[in-house]
Amino acid sequence: MKRSRLNSGHSHGAAYVLTCLLGCFPVSSSCQAQDPPSRTPDQDRSVARSYAEASVPAPTSRPAVEKPSALSPEIRRSLEIIRSADIIGHAKILGDPKYRGRRASTPGARKAAVYIANAFGKTGLRPGGGAGGYYQVFKIRTGYRIQSDLDIRVGGSSLGEQLLRADYGVLRLPGGKTDLNLPCAMAGYGVSCASLKFDEYAGLDVKGKAVVVFSGVPWSASTGRWLQRTLGKPGFETLAYKARNAADHGAGCLIIVDNPAGWRKQVGLTEEMGPVDTDTSAEGPIPVIHITRNTLVELTGMSRAELNLLAIEIGQEMKPQSMLLRGRQFRWKASMTGQARIGRNIIGILPGRDDELRREAVVIGAHYDHLGEGANEEIYFGANDNAAGVGAMLSVASALAAMPQPLRRTLVFVAFDAEEIGRRGSKHYISKPPLPIDQTAMMINFDMIGRNEPNGIYAVGTRSSRIVHQIHQSANHHIGLKLTHPASFRLGRSDHSPFYYARVPVMYLFGGLDPDYNTPQDTWEKLIPGKVEKVARLAFLTALEVARRTERPQFHKPQGAVSALLPE
Ligand SMILES: [Zn+2]
Repeated sequence: MKRSRLNSGHSHGAAYVLTCLLGCFPVSSSCQAQDPPSRTPDQDRSVARSYAEASVPAPTSRPAVEKPSALSPEIRRSLEIIRSADIIGHAKILGDPKYRGRRASTPGARKAAVYIANAFGKTGLRPGGGAGGYYQVFKIRTGYRIQSDLDIRVGGSSLGEQLLRADYGVLRLPGGKTDLNLPCAMAGYGVSCASLKFDEYAGLDVKGKAVVVFSGVPWSASTGRWLQRTLGKPGFETLAYKARNAADHGAGCLIIVDNPAGWRKQVGLTEEMGPVDTDTSAEGPIPVIHITRNTLVELTGMSRAELNLLAIEIGQEMKPQSMLLRGRQFRWKASMTGQARIGRNIIGILPGRDDELRREAVVIGAHYDHLGEGANEEIYFGANDNAAGVGAMLSVASALAAMPQPLRRTLVFVAFDAEEIGRRGSKHYISKPPLPIDQTAMMINFDMIGRNEPNGIYAVGTRSSRIVHQIHQSANHHIGLKLTHPASFRLGRSDHSPFYYARVPVMYLFGGLDPDYNTPQDTWEKLIPGKVEKVARLAFLTALEVARRTERPQFHKPQGAVSALLPE
């Protein structure tokens, strides 16, 4: 997970483009290689039993130890609609040269969108994109480039190109450009909290200055809790809050440094801490830049140990330790260019039958965009990433649509656009969902399901709900995949993560990285037919059970579920 380095600012005119490396890179490599498969706990088995008879109410209490019985005939019939030949067939078509690698907002991607919308239509799904029919249209910017030139001067001399080049990343660039030459101040965590009478800007004149703050929030010795938990509402840790608060006090720029006390992992930083990769990065009140602790040491003249102590003391005393950094000058010139273009999610809906529960959605998604063409017009076919995932999603849609009567909850099928350039499609979905996000029971995401271990799959994020964790394992009794749940919960960076951040239980099905990942060699013949079929069937049974049972899965933030999206 080297997102921050991938996106590090390059000083002195170096330009860079965000690429697919930011997408589709889900679990830490050590997890992928080493985690033993986790088998289904016995106590989950009677959830599987409820598949046996669609008309029998699903169990809502903790299930007893029992072997799963057979699937009901109608479920079996639907399940068998999911065939590897169909899934691979879709992947072969979407991976065809005529789609030119489906880069977001290119003619190839548009053709792919038409293909998927037609498939939804044939399946009988209702259009879910509002006025756009099946298409949910949104603005995207592609070909993002940032020119950035940073210089920090201490007592008249520069910190040095070498240090700066390695050590910063652009987080926000309002208006797409900036040209600053500012004195500096340091404002602890950048928090002003009236109810705790804790204001790190009190008595500090930051007008027209670059303000350095720590990430996260202080830990309070008096309450023994993190500030955000003391107040019961997260917010002070977010980049949006810190930037807004600094701007309200007249600051010209915000500089964020990872909390030197190493508490970042415990304070629940949110995804928006990530580097520039979206249009919204060009919004916001003031420019925001991320520097490392090494640079902070140089900037402040304090040692790491001293900075560490400072970060701790602020929380322990709940007393600000803000200061001007005299003799420091922050010079930063940056500009961002890109073309505004259109992205399209394709959304198809299978309405639920229950008067109440039909307002709740089970979302099944896969991104259809990929990298497009390289410098020499070589095509990045993206068969495994993620034409196969789209094929699986379409196949699951056919199977669920074939159930003799509608399920209780509504099923929403989404082919996401622009995953490869920062999950833009899924983020847009979250902001404009056809059914409310807070009534979304679950999200299943397919991304790169067709390679590696022929009978194994990573089921990432299932611990975001106890019930989802049970259901998919019970469903797997009928499928027989070797499931791996990464031991240290890591979210990954595909389209499920915006849902997770919106507190929707997720299951991300992922087959692992392979040598052809993000190369023109990712072609359809290399997909493993039996594997994609089983993975799609597992998703079918899981979605079916979530859509029909009375109890809705509750979101549960797993222990240690810190975003893997954050700069290290
Ligand atoms: Zn992908």
